[in-house]
Amino acid sequence: MSDIAPLLAARIAADGPLRLDAWMQACNAHYYATCDALGTDFTTAPEISQLFGEMIGGWIGDLWQRAMGPNPLLNTPLTLVELGPGRGTLLADALRVLARLPGFAANTSLALLETSSTLRTIQARTLSGWAPVWHESVDTLPTTTPLIVIANEFFDALPIRQYLGHGLERAVTHSAAGFSATTMDGGEQTAHERSETSETIIASLAKRIAVQGGAALIIDYGQAETPISTLQAIHAGQAADPYANPGKTDLTAHVDFTRLLAAAGPLKIHGPIAQGQFLAALGIHSRAAALSRGKSHADAAIITAGLARLTAPAQMGALFKAVALTSPDWPVPAGFDQ
Ligand code: SAH
Repeated sequence: MSDIAPLLAARIAADGPLRLDAWMQACNAHYYATCDALGTDFTTAPEISQLFGEMIGGWIGDLWQRAMGPNPLLNTPLTLVELGPGRGTLLADALRVLARLPGFAANTSLALLETSSTLRTIQARTLSGWAPVWHESVDTLPTTTPLIVIANEFFDALPIRQYLGHGLERAVTHSAAGFSATTMDGGEQTAHERSETSETIIASLAKRIAVQGGAALIIDYGQAETPISTLQAIHAGQAADPYANPGKTDLTAHVDFTRLLAAAGPLKIHGPIAQGQFLAALGIHSRAAALSRGKSHADAAIITAGLARLTAPAQMGALFKAVALTSPDWPVPAGFDQ
């Protein structure tokens, strides 16, 4: 795919500065469509260690079994949904665990929300054998089965508006010197960021889950306080200018859990809790020990390092949060019960 910089420059020349959410949407769509970025620009939890996806597989299986009751066990069709599956690694690791449950494979369909055709090709390879069906929007997900939805580092990639207070908001302009931040009129008086796209997705999923049954597990970095200025660009593991090189850097913003959960309507909310606490409650430490048994020193050290990256408070353990949403008649999911 061609460079989007000339297209964005022409759009700004014709229509004036581009609002930040439109900029972020265009840049990220191009970014995810053109590069197999995961692992080069940034590394996500499932790419760090198989332990992450395995823990989530156990979480899904436990919840599904308890929601359905033991008898008849697992003969109800389920749609397992992942939002923004990246390389498909999380689900591949989770499904290795889930495939051991009697009846699970036969009754489960995979639905993947993914806009990048490059990543869809990779996901098809990683998840071959599970016949995933891809969706552009949550609106086309199956309407007749319960839905268990997983979203890891998905909402942080969705477009935000950045209100600067005093009736102004962030926009992007272009001149001979390149792209740069500017302001435009925007109604709000207090400075804050907001992702309307994220709220819309949560609201439609929540409506579905309330009627069809099911749950959603969201893991992302962010806090309960309203974010004010958290837009960042990453290129090759380094912070970059979010306005230089459109479509060539990964643009993200912190997830506003308070606002996201306010959009979850009738669902029950569990958490947010720190990722480290969530994974510990699911038994990641004993799984890491079991996985290390009989391994060489070097291989065991890789497992231990992965465990630390996922759970240590100074690494991903505290900044990343896990939150679960459940249909009102579903049980409390594992990890959220204390
Ligand atoms: N969950 C994965 C990947 C996170 S990167 C992991 O943990 O490794 C973000 C993912 O969301 C990518 O797969 C990207 O293509 C997808 N994505 C970003 N914006 C999207 C949108 N608006 N609709 C659907 N998918 C989107």
